[in-house]
Amino acid sequence: MALFQKKKYIKINPNRSIQSEKLADPEVPDELFAKCPGCKHSIYSQDLGSEKVCPHCGYNFRITARERLAIIADENSFEELFTGIETKNPLDFPGYPEKLAATKAKTGLDEAVLTGLATIKGKKLALAIMDSTFIMASMGTVVGEKLTRLFELATEQSLPVVVFTASGGARMQEGILSLMQMAKTSAAVKRHSNAGLLYITVLTDPTTGGVTASFAMLGDIILAEPQSLIGFAGRRVIEQTVRQTLPDDFQKAEFLQEHGFVDAIVKRTELRDELALILALHDSSNETNGGNENV
Ligand SMILES: [Zn+2]
Repeated sequence: MALFQKKKYIKINPNRSIQSEKLADPEVPDELFAKCPGCKHSIYSQDLGSEKVCPHCGYNFRITARERLAIIADENSFEELFTGIETKNPLDFPGYPEKLAATKAKTGLDEAVLTGLATIKGKKLALAIMDSTFIMASMGTVVGEKLTRLFELATEQSLPVVVFTASGGARMQEGILSLMQMAKTSAAVKRHSNAGLLYITVLTDPTTGGVTASFAMLGDIILAEPQSLIGFAGRRVIEQTVRQTLPDDFQKAEFLQEHGFVDAIVKRTELRDELALILALHDSSNETNGGNENV
């Protein structure tokens, strides 16, 4: 009989606003959809693939160093080197240690460049990949040191070097010490070059400042991803200095190729094959034993 005793009204909790619950945005995880900066399409993240290229317009989304590693090097071939070099705060720049600690925790990287040995389609090489999510991949003392050690190791072991560049420039918080990395890395590149070894750079979006003015542009072969921003000073700075309006595609990879600064523009999806081909063509060990093999 309890059924007939049931009261015919409902209780309303006055603290709970039905209106605001209805209007609240449905929760969509950030990583589910991505808006393409190139064509403004909303893309289901799975459609971007591991290469993160827009299926509509071919726009290259920025990727982390680890994501780059996964699409370039042979699986499980990467041996990471030169980790654990401590980034100091030589100028006592306010907030720098805190910023570093937060960035390290967020990215899982110890600095803005990943360095080590790897293989691409079986060809061994020294590989460095810069990560723009780490303080805009700016070059401080540790980035310079890791790159220099990588070049020295490659020279010692007669290995080619491939560097994926991406950078906002010098690490402002380290002042002049950061600018000195330009000369230091360039000298290491030169010693590697003097040993007759191959150095390939792949310029990715964005490669600017002190990185462009040093090891990025010193490659024997310079490749770039389509539409990447590549430059030294920013567009506004140049316009204000030369008092001229610059063309729209100024500092784009395609503009640099037209003017002879970039050898080839290679789609991200074709980079691994292209690098493997270049490495194979320059592999001097082929010359010594290639005669006996039917390759
Ligand atoms: Zn697009």
